[in-house]
Amino acid sequence: MSKRDYYDVLGVNKGASKDELKKSYRKLARKYHPDVSKEADAETQFKEVNEAYEVLSDEQKRAAYDRFGHAGVSGNAGGGFGGFGGFGSRDPFDIFEEVFGGLGGFGRSGGRRRQRGGPRQGADLRYDMTIEFEEAVFGIDQEVEIPRKEHCTSCNSSGAEAGTSPIRCPECNGTGELRRQTGFFINIATCSRCQGRGEIITSPCRECQGKGVLTKTRRMTVKIPPGVDNGTQIRLTGEGESGTAGGPPGNLYVVLRVKPHAYFHRSNDDIHVELAINVAQAALGDEVEVPTLDGNEMMKIAAGTQTADTIRLRGRGVPRLRRDGSTAGRGDQIVTVQVRTPTELTNDQRDMLMQLGKTLDKEVVPQKEKGFFDKIRDAFGM
Ligand SMILES: [Zn+2]
Ligand SMILES: [Zn+2]
Repeated sequence: MSKRDYYDVLGVNKGASKDELKKSYRKLARKYHPDVSKEADAETQFKEVNEAYEVLSDEQKRAAYDRFGHAGVSGNAGGGFGGFGGFGSRDPFDIFEEVFGGLGGFGRSGGRRRQRGGPRQGADLRYDMTIEFEEAVFGIDQEVEIPRKEHCTSCNSSGAEAGTSPIRCPECNGTGELRRQTGFFINIATCSRCQGRGEIITSPCRECQGKGVLTKTRRMTVKIPPGVDNGTQIRLTGEGESGTAGGPPGNLYVVLRVKPHAYFHRSNDDIHVELAINVAQAALGDEVEVPTLDGNEMMKIAAGTQTADTIRLRGRGVPRLRRDGSTAGRGDQIVTVQVRTPTELTNDQRDMLMQLGKTLDKEVVPQKEKGFFDKIRDAFGM
């Protein structure tokens, strides 16, 4: 059987934008999700839709597909579906599409209708991770250990010891429900002996105690891209708990918290730092060393600098993270100057200042210019 064109599968034209692709994918994935769909070939359709989206949502794969057709991507995507629930061969760490989508990614209730015995998607997991300020700026590969429920391989999730199989529930005769006549009514209740499954396990699997699932601690590396911030979520598709009865696994959401820095403050993609200079430096100008995220750097102070003046170091801020996990350019570092009045003067210094004082204007006038707090507000965009 020849493969269908991916654009046809998603019902979009060749020039479709990422948004259009995503919209169409969502619609179709919902339609054919085996939890929901009644159509006989829903599973095949669902796989097809996922495969098409996997290729077309990836710029490189899409370009290869556009040039060479299925042959261009077969090594990556085609045939990579290891059984149902292997949501694709795509490296799950690549996906950042919904990183900023708020916590709305959790509990896609739409696709998780309960259906006795039917395939059910595994639960989503949330992992809270705290990282250092610099790690958020430059990115890091972080090892994590996630306890999650996985299929028991020794009983193939049936819960029955290898070599045995569940027997038909004698209580309900395999129907999963009990009917009792009371007066004129027939009362239907879920069979309590088999919990509605219609079968019971006589010799439970020793590995999982008949539960069909095992809690295993999984070790993996989470790629934190540069430019993440407090509250950024990273979705690892298919890294949640296993689905049941052939349902796809849930997702793992890594939610980030960034530790504050001793002297750098962050406001979106800009880094703010305060720098104290002395009166002479402020009046005469100077060249000083300032800390930046990339190490110390020389910076010019103009003659006549006032407290709360700001100096912008372009491109020394935080990499701008895009939704797909890549970055485009960097913000700036903004240095706010604070002129320190000397407090402990030697006799010589006192004499010199008095000399200087005689030459300076002594008139006290109310400030018409922007004050200190206005400047701070401007600098921080408050
Ligand atoms: Zn087992
Ligand atoms: Zn029963």
